[in-house]
Amino acid sequence: MQRNSAAKRLTSTIAHAIYNSLLPDTCTLCEQILAPPRPDHLCPYCRLALPYNLNPCTSCGIPLQQTTSRLCGPCITKPLVDQTVVPLLHEKEAAYLLHKFKFQKNIREGQALAQTMLQMINTTYTADKPLPQCLIPTPIAWQHRLLRGFDHAQILASMLSHETKIPVKTNLLRRKYGQPQRQKTRAQRLKLAKNTYTLRQPYKAINFQHVAVVDDVLTTGTTARHIVQLLRKAGIKKVDLWCATRAI
Ligand SMILES: [Zn+2]
Ligand SMILES: [Zn+2]
Repeated sequence: MQRNSAAKRLTSTIAHAIYNSLLPDTCTLCEQILAPPRPDHLCPYCRLALPYNLNPCTSCGIPLQQTTSRLCGPCITKPLVDQTVVPLLHEKEAAYLLHKFKFQKNIREGQALAQTMLQMINTTYTADKPLPQCLIPTPIAWQHRLLRGFDHAQILASMLSHETKIPVKTNLLRRKYGQPQRQKTRAQRLKLAKNTYTLRQPYKAINFQHVAVVDDVLTTGTTARHIVQLLRKAGIKKVDLWCATRAI
């Protein structure tokens, strides 16, 4: 039964992709025809109108009031990660794009988000500040992956990997089956069980010094904090976090 519904979803996704490829490219937000096609599937007006996260904390991505600050108060004493890339606020058009990508499995909206992330990645990392050595999508439980037939964080990481040439590692972490984070209250999210995420490989098998964890939306940072602790225990020195949107 589950296998049949997963196969149906895959067929529908492929049919949708073929159908889209036969039509001229249009803006995913206003449906204006784009000539030539654009990798982000957005017209210049809609791209400009996105709710950008203009002055984020470099560690947790929360928008800062003062343009001279780089870190928020809590991150000065207890930083979330070494570097966060989170170009959009989780509201308006950005929340719409993310919803269409995550729940309706629309790849074009995912590409719009990935391209926005890439713009920020390109300005964040320079010759003095090298890119991470691998991308680690935040894992979902295999039962959820089977039911949904779609792993949004993994797809987002693959899109970013295609552009940056950084490899994606999907076999480092495992998520225990349980209620998805989005169905929990903020208080429940903050109390994420310690064993929700585990390492799949022995520490010695992990030979990276600098990685980026990839997810769609950064909310409380609890998931990221758990994953960062695991990766640091495994000997990874620098952990960055790349998300499309920041919920506040
Ligand atoms: Zn548009
Ligand atoms: Zn912060």
